Amino acid sequence: MVDVCIVGAGIAGCTCARELSAYNLEVVVLEAGYDVACGSTRANSGIVHGGYDPIPGTLKAKFNVEGSKIYEKLSEELGFEYNRCGSMVVAFSQDEVQALEGLLERGRQNGVEGLEILGQDAIREKEPNLSKSTVAALWVPTGAIVNPYGACLAFAENAVQNGAKFEFYSRVCAIERADGAYRVGYEVLSEGNEPVEKSLDAKIVINAAGLASGEINGFVSKDAFEITPRAGEYLLLDRTWGGAFNSTIFQVPTKNGKGVLVTPTTGGNMLLGPTAEPRESADQTQTTVDGLSSVLNAAGKNWEKIPSRDVITNFAGLRASCLEDGDFHLYEPDDAPGFFNIGGFDSPGLTAAPAVAKEYARIISERLGAEKNENFNPVRKPVKHFATMSDEERAGAVEQDSRWGRVICRCECVTEGEIVEAIHSPIPAMTIDSVKWRTRAGMGRCQSGFCMPLVAQIIARETGQDVTEIRKGGLGSKVAVGRRGCLDRLPHVVIDGGDDE
Ligand SMILES: Cc1cc2nc3c(=O)[nH]c(=O)nc-3n(C[C@H](O)[C@H](O)[C@H](O)COP(=O)(O)OP(=O)(O)OC[C@H]3O[C@@H](n4cnc5c(N)ncnc54)[C@H](O)[C@@H]3O)c2cc1C
Repeated sequence: MVDVCIVGAGIAGCTCARELSAYNLEVVVLEAGYDVACGSTRANSGIVHGGYDPIPGTLKAKFNVEGSKIYEKLSEELGFEYNRCGSMVVAFSQDEVQALEGLLERGRQNGVEGLEILGQDAIREKEPNLSKSTVAALWVPTGAIVNPYGACLAFAENAVQNGAKFEFYSRVCAIERADGAYRVGYEVLSEGNEPVEKSLDAKIVINAAGLASGEINGFVSKDAFEITPRAGEYLLLDRTWGGAFNSTIFQVPTKNGKGVLVTPTTGGNMLLGPTAEPRESADQTQTTVDGLSSVLNAAGKNWEKIPSRDVITNFAGLRASCLEDGDFHLYEPDDAPGFFNIGGFDSPGLTAAPAVAKEYARIISERLGAEKNENFNPVRKPVKHFATMSDEERAGAVEQDSRWGRVICRCECVTEGEIVEAIHSPIPAMTIDSVKWRTRAGMGRCQSGFCMPLVAQIIARETGQDVTEIRKGGLGSKVAVGRRGCLDRLPHVVIDGGDDE
C-alpha cells in the first residue's frame, strides 16, 4: 500500500507530488496521458495572475494571491521560466474606468500589493504600442508570465528526484473504499493492444484529474460536482514581435472570464486569446474560424495593427469549469475521508496550484503523521538551452560533447546535446512533442517542418526503438507509416554529413 496516490499529472498533481515528496511518504502519480501537462496545463495563457479578479472570500482569491507570492522563489529553486513583467487591465470608456476602480478595490481586499490606476501618459510610457483609445489602466506589478509546461515538468522532476513515482498511460477507471483505504483501479494503455487492468492501494487519494475530476469524485462520493469544458482559442505570433508589449494587456473582465489578452510569452513570442466557449466533451480541443477571428477582433482593440501574417500557429485549451458556483472545489467529501478533490480548477489554477499543494501536503502529512524527508532537495537543475547560453558556455558545452554543437532545430537554435539530455532526464521525453515542449525544437517559424524527422531519429537511437515506432504525442500518433532508406540517412546529409553511427 502506498501513502498517497495522485490522479493526474497536470500542474495540480505535479505540485502536490513535489510538496509531498518533502515528507517521508510513498507517493505515486497515475496519469492517463504520455507526459506531464497533457490537459489544461499545456494550453493556457501562462499568466501568474496578481489576484485582483476573484471575488473576495473565495478559494480562488485566497490561493491566487498566495500562489502569486511564491512563484518567483519556486522558479529559482526549480529552474523554470518565469518573468514578473506586470499586467494591465485597460479601459476604453468612462464606464470601464469605473469597472477598473471596482477591480482595484477587489484586489486590495484580496491582499494584492502595488495596484494603481494609470493615466494615458503613464500607459504610453510603459506600452508605446497600446491603442491610443485607451483612457486608463489598472497596473498590477505582481502580474507575471510563466512557461506552464516548463513549470509543471520542473515540479514533477523534482518530485521524482525526491522519491515520488510517475506512471504514464495509466487511466484511473474505478476507486473503491475498503478497510479505511482506497483501491484505485486503472488501465495501462499501449499502442494497438487491449488495456491491461491493474490496481493500487493507497491511504490517501488526491483527485487532480482536471476535466475528469467530477467523474473521479463520483467514484467515491455522492457529494457531486459537474465539470463543463470551456474552450479558449489562441493565436501565437512569431518571435519577431516578442517585444511589441512589455507586460500582459487585459481588457475589462466580463461574466465569461478575463477576456482576450495580448501578452509576451517566456519563449519570446506574442500570444493573443483566449475565447471562452462551452464544448460538449473533454477531447474537443480544435480551433475554429469563428473563434480565431473573434480573438483577432478583440485583440485588435489593444493592438491596432496586429501583424496577422506572422501568426505561426493556433491552439485551444479547455478549462475544467464548475459553473454552479464558479469557485474551485478543494475539499475532502464527508462520505470519503482521505479523498482530496482539486476540482473545478479553471483559471487561476496555474497560479494557485503551488499554494494549494502546500496546504494539501500540510494536511496530509499531519493526517498520516509523516516526518520531514531529511534528504529532500528542493533544487532542480534544468536542461540548459544552447540558444540562451553565453559564447563561453557554448564553447565549453561543445568541447565536452560535440553533440552540443550540432543544430537540429534551426528556427529555435536547438542542438542535439540538449535533445539527448531531455530524453534522459528524470521524466524522459519519449515523443516528438515531449522533446518540443522541453527544448523548443519545432516551436519556431517552420513549426517542425525541418527538424521533426531528425528528432524522431534521435529519440529512436537513444531509446533503442525503431524510428517507425516514434510518435508525435499520444497513442495513435506515429509519424512514419513505413521505412524508406533516406529516413536513416537524414542526420548525416542534413546536419554535418558527419560522423554519426
Ligand atoms: C484557455 C485557458 C487559459 C488559462 N489561463 C490561465 C492563466 O493564464 N493563469 C492561470 O493561473 N490559469 C489559467 N488557466 C487555468 C489553468 O490552466 C488550470 O487551472 C490548470 O492547468 C489546471 O491544472 P490541473 O492539473 O487541475 O488539470 P490538467 O492540466 O487538465 O491535468 C489533469 C490531468 O489529469 C489527467 N487525467 C484525466 N483523467 C484521468 C484519469 N482517469 N486517470 C489518470 N489521469 C487522468 C489528464 O490527462 C491531465 O493530464 C487557463 C486555462 C485555460 C484552459
